[in-house]
Amino acid sequence: MRTEDARPVRLEDYRPPDWLVETVELEVSLHPTATRVRATLMLKPNGAAAAPLILDGEELTLTGLTLDGAALPPEQYVATTERLTIAQPPPRPFRLTIETTVDPSANTELSGLYRSGAIYCTQCEAEGFRRITYFPDRPDVMAVYTTRIEAEKAEAPVLLANGNRIAAGEIAGSGRHFAVWHDPFPKPSYLFALVGGPLACVEDRFRTMSGREVELRIYVEPGKEDRCAHAMDSLKRAMRWDETAFGREYDLDVFMIVAVSDFNMGAMENKGLNIFNDKYVLASPATATDGDFERIEAIIAHEYFHNWTGNRITCRDWFQLCLKEGLTVFRDQEFSADMRSRAVERISDVRGLRAHQFVEDAGPLAHPVRPTLYREINNFYTATVYEKGAEVVRMLATLIGPESFRKGMDLYFVRHDGEAATVEQFVQCFADVSGKDLGQFMRWYSQAGTPEVVATGGYDARGRTYRLELAQTVPATPGQPLKEPMAIPLALGLVGRDGRDLPLKLADGRAIERGVLTLTKAAETFVFGDIGEPPVPSLNRGFSAPIKLVANVSADELRFLTAHDRDPFNRWQALQTLATRLLLDNVAALRAGGAPREGGDLAAALGAIVADGALEPAYVALMLALPGEADLAREIGRDVDPDAIFAARAALRASLGDKLAGPLFDHYRRLSESGPYSPDAISAGRRALRNACLDLLAATRRGDAIALAARQYQAADNMTDRMAALATLSLHDVPERAAALHDFYARHADDPLIVDKWLTLQAAIPEPATLDRVKALTAHPAFSFANPNRVRALINAFAFANQKEFNRADGAGYEFIADTVLKLDPRNPQLAARLLSALKSWRVLEAGRRALAQAALRRVAGEPSLSRDSSDIVQRALAEE
Ligand SMILES: [Zn+2]
Repeated sequence: MRTEDARPVRLEDYRPPDWLVETVELEVSLHPTATRVRATLMLKPNGAAAAPLILDGEELTLTGLTLDGAALPPEQYVATTERLTIAQPPPRPFRLTIETTVDPSANTELSGLYRSGAIYCTQCEAEGFRRITYFPDRPDVMAVYTTRIEAEKAEAPVLLANGNRIAAGEIAGSGRHFAVWHDPFPKPSYLFALVGGPLACVEDRFRTMSGREVELRIYVEPGKEDRCAHAMDSLKRAMRWDETAFGREYDLDVFMIVAVSDFNMGAMENKGLNIFNDKYVLASPATATDGDFERIEAIIAHEYFHNWTGNRITCRDWFQLCLKEGLTVFRDQEFSADMRSRAVERISDVRGLRAHQFVEDAGPLAHPVRPTLYREINNFYTATVYEKGAEVVRMLATLIGPESFRKGMDLYFVRHDGEAATVEQFVQCFADVSGKDLGQFMRWYSQAGTPEVVATGGYDARGRTYRLELAQTVPATPGQPLKEPMAIPLALGLVGRDGRDLPLKLADGRAIERGVLTLTKAAETFVFGDIGEPPVPSLNRGFSAPIKLVANVSADELRFLTAHDRDPFNRWQALQTLATRLLLDNVAALRAGGAPREGGDLAAALGAIVADGALEPAYVALMLALPGEADLAREIGRDVDPDAIFAARAALRASLGDKLAGPLFDHYRRLSESGPYSPDAISAGRRALRNACLDLLAATRRGDAIALAARQYQAADNMTDRMAALATLSLHDVPERAAALHDFYARHADDPLIVDKWLTLQAAIPEPATLDRVKALTAHPAFSFANPNRVRALINAFAFANQKEFNRADGAGYEFIADTVLKLDPRNPQLAARLLSALKSWRVLEAGRRALAQAALRRVAGEPSLSRDSSDIVQRALAEE
C-alpha cells in the first residue's frame, strides 16, 4: 500500500455520497494468482445534481467496463490502480459492470482477498473491499449483495459468502463448481466476505425466540472439528442472551464462522459469515487454557452481537467507529458478566482498560473516543475506541438507569435499523427516553485524556454531616490543550463502622439516584446529612467512571475497605491502592540507593482475604495479583526507570510469598483437582487461585515451591495447569525451567497455536539474555514473519509484556523493535504499525532510555518508503508536545 496520498481525513469534511448503490452482483472466479471479479452495480444519484462518479480502488487492474451493457469508450473514464472516475455519468440510475483481476497469493497485507494456507478468504474492514473491485468503499453506501463464486472443485470444495445460499452446482466437464449467495439485508462493503477452500464443518441448530430455525456452522481445517464444541456452545449462549438482554433475534437462515490461521485481527463480523483468527475458535482441554476458553466465549459473542450493533445499524463514517465497537464491547462485557462472575469480569475489564487505554490516553497517540481526524483508519482500532468507548456506554446506563437504558436501546434499534448512524443519533435515543439533557455528556466522545478527580472528604460530628469536595481536570492531549468539565457519574457509598453503608441523603434535599452522584462542574461540594458517625468513603464504586481518582483516604481506611466494602470492585481497588502506594515508595527508595519496605500491613490484609472462605476463588486470585509494572510506570508518569519498578515489584512479591507461605501452601493443596477438567467459571476460578498461590510461593525462590511447580508441570492433565506451572518456572533461572521448556516444545511442536504460547513465555522472561533468545527464535522453524499470530506471540509479547527487557538501558530492545518494524512494514503494514506503537510511551522514560527510544523512532521515520500505517504512528509519536 505505498501511497503518496497521506492527506488527513476530517470529520468536519463529511458529505453524503453523490451516488448510492442499490444492488451489487459479484461474480468471482477464484484462482491462486489471477482471480477474476466481475461486479455489477445498480447505481443511482443521491439527490438532484449529477456529480462525477468516483470509485475507490487499491492495487487494481481494470479489464473491462460497461455501462447499461455497452462498453464505455476510454475517453469517458479514467482508471488508475487507486481510482475509477467517470466524469460525466448519466444523470439517472444506471448499471455499471466492472471487471478486475486480483492476485490473492501475492496479497501479504491480508486485506482484501488473500490466501491463508489453502483457503481463500477476505478481510474488508476498514478499506479492503476496494482491493477486490472499484467501489464507493465507505460505510454509508449500503447495498444488497448477490455473490456467485466459481472455483476448481478439487481446490475449493467449499464456497461461502454472506447471506443465504440460493444456488449451487457443477460446471459440466470442467472440474469447476459454483455457489450463489444472496444477502437480503443492505450492508456496507466492509461487511462483505467470501471464503473458498478445503474446509471441514461442524453443524448445529438454534431456534430463535420467534421459533425460526437457524443453521449454525463452524468451518475449520479438516482434522480440527473436535476443537469447535466450546465455540459452538458459546455462540448458542450468545444468541440466546441477545434475545433476553436486548430483544435481538438473528435474521438469516444460517450463521457461519470460518477459522483461518493467517489473520490481522481477532475476528470479523461479516454479515452471516464471521471470519475468525483460529486462535479464537479452536479449544480443547489439552490445547487451550481457561483464559483461552474465556476469550473465545467473549469474542464469539462480540462478533455475533455486531449483527445488530454494527451490521443492521452501521456507522455513517469511520469517525463513528466507537458506535459499533464501544457499544459491542459493552455488550460482550455484560454477556461475560452474566455467564461468569460480574465482579471478576469488571475487575478484569478495568485492569485491561488501565493497562492499555489509560497508557494510550497519557501519550502522543491519545485521541478522543470519536476522533476528528485520521491519516490511516487502521490505526484507530484502538483501546480508546473499543474499551473507553464501552465505558462511555456503561456511563450512559449508569446515568439514566437500567430500565431507561434498555428503552433507549430499543428505540435505537427501531429508529435506525437499516441505516448508517452517528454517535449523536445514538445518544439522542437515550435523551429521548430519559428526558435528560446529555449535551455535556457528549464531551466523553470529543475530549481525549483521562479525567482526574481529586476527592477530599471531612466529617463534622456536631452537624452530623459529611462533606465531599470534588475537583476534576482533564489533562492536555495532542491537539486539545484546553478541556471543559465532564459529566462524571460517581457511584459511592459511605461505609459505617460496622461495615454497612450509611443512608445517602444530601443536606440540600437533592436526591441521589441509585447511589450515583453526577459531577458536572470543575469543582463541586456535596454535603451529606444525618451521618451519625465518621464514615469511610468508598468512591467510584464498580469503576462507574473511567477516571483517575485521588482521594484523601488513609492506609487504615483502605485496609478497612479491603475487609468490609460491600462493593467487590472497591474492595479489590482498596488493596490495589495500598499496594501501589507501597510500591511507589519502594521504587523511589531503590532509586535513591535505599532498601524497600516489606509491607507487613499489606500481607495482613491479603492474608485476611485469602482466609475468607466466603469469597469466590477467581476473585481471591485477582486480589493476589499486584499492580503490574506498566501500571506502576503509568502512576509514576515521568522519569520512569523500568529496572527499579521491576526490582520493587519482585521484592514485594517475594516478601508476600514468604509471609503468607503457610496459607498459600494450604490453599494450593485444598484446591487440587478432582475429576475431569471442565472449563466452567467455577472450576476455572479454582485453578486460577491455585495457580496464583503457586506463583506467589515461587516468587520467594524457595526450593519446595519451585519443585511444586515442576511437579505440577509434569502431572497436569490440562493445558491451564501445565501452562501456569511453566509460566511460573519461566520467571526463574532454575534448571527446571530449561527442562520444562524443552519438554513443552517436544510435546506440542506440531500445533502452531500451542507453540505460540511457548514463544510468548520465552519472550517474557525478565532476564538480560531474553533479547538474544527472542532474536534466535525468529530463526526457529516454528516461527514465521508471514504469520501475524507468530509475530504477535514472540515479538509483540517481548515489546508489550516484558517491560524490563524491552526497556533495556542500552536501547537494544528498541533497536530490535525498529529493525523488525522495518522488516515487516513492506509486507504487512498493519502488523508493523501495531508493533511500532510499543514505543508510544517513550517520553515518560528516564533521560537515557528516552534518548535511545527516540533515536529508534527517528530511524523508522527516516525510511523513505514507509507505509502510511507506520508513518502515521511514528509521526504522531515523535510530534512535539
Ligand atoms: Zn468489534
